[in-house]
Amino acid sequence: MAEVFYDEDIELSLLHQKTIAIIGYGNQGRAQALNLRDNDQTVIVGNVRDTSWEQAEKDGFEVYEVREAAQKADIIFLLVPDEVAPWVFETEILPGLRAGTVLDFASGYNITYGFIVPPPDVDVVLLAPRMIGRSVRDLFVAGRGAPSLVGVHQDYSGQAKEIVLALAKGIGSGRAGAVWSSFEEETLADLFGEQVVGASLFLTRMAYEVLREAGVSEEAALLELTLSGELSEVHKAISELGLWEQLKLHSRTSQYGQQTRGPRLVTEQTRQVLRGIMRDIQDGAFAKEWYLDQEAKAVHFRRLWSENLKHPFIEAERRAMKKLRLDAEE
Ligand code: NDP
Repeated sequence: MAEVFYDEDIELSLLHQKTIAIIGYGNQGRAQALNLRDNDQTVIVGNVRDTSWEQAEKDGFEVYEVREAAQKADIIFLLVPDEVAPWVFETEILPGLRAGTVLDFASGYNITYGFIVPPPDVDVVLLAPRMIGRSVRDLFVAGRGAPSLVGVHQDYSGQAKEIVLALAKGIGSGRAGAVWSSFEEETLADLFGEQVVGASLFLTRMAYEVLREAGVSEEAALLELTLSGELSEVHKAISELGLWEQLKLHSRTSQYGQQTRGPRLVTEQTRQVLRGIMRDIQDGAFAKEWYLDQEAKAVHFRRLWSENLKHPFIEAERRAMKKLRLDAEE
């Protein structure tokens, strides 16, 4: 079992008189900055001059160019998208990086695959919320918190563990639990989870095609599969009750159908596919493939988007969303 830390186990005083620079005021950056400030921490923001910069100013933060914010900070949160982080680190942060600085990441990706190699005289810590940024903030405001995976890659100060736990408390994760992990474990779980759960997009789209072949209308098919919002209710029930316990909320016919037909789709062959996906993550093949595509101006990435947006499912969805009054107030 992993070790889990809560607010009462964590000392915030280690952060006293430290300046935290949030580099990248986006999904995670904004939420973490606001939560840290509400927990009495000194927070500044570094961003490119765009709407995120303006948002940070509107939220009352001092905002600087990335390089300047990083130089002013004792603790740097690198919260730009993973694919631009190596460039931001190399060009904007590394040249002015002082010994003893704490470098904080919200994802293990760049350290695990060596796209970022920090110098040996800094602490390198992981604080990865298991939640989208908006909810990291909303939960905090509601008096709750988003759980996080935390870990240490490099402990120059000898206090890296205590520091990352204090940061976890600062963003509200100590309310729900800061789970002791590592950059490598976070990367493995995160990539595998998103790639496998993401397969449901393709399963849903194929199910739509088969429903249409069987003569079901666009509206009926889409309401069944996506648009009614039933799916999000099921996911909510899964997180609250458990994967199998929530099944009891469905009709007995549905319970029987799910437990007999599911195993037809998910077979021992599927396990082999899952293991192949895991292998690609573990040996770096996926990261290399994605890196090479970005080097080639993301040609494959952009082609995938353009092909998938051409699928008839998308137009059908647009038509149905327009026609059905799914968000009507009354
Ligand atoms: P975003 O896509 O929201 O981008 C963050 C910020 O980075 C934006 O303000 C963006 O500015 C800025 N930015 C983009 N390019 C550059 C650049 N070249 N130089 C400087 N700033 C730049 O990122 P996320 O918050 O989604 O992700 C940040 C980290 O958090 C990542 O490591 C991610 O893996 C991790 N994470 C994300 C989660 C999520 O739910 N999103 C969940 C858990 C972890 P602009 O306004 O121009 O876009």
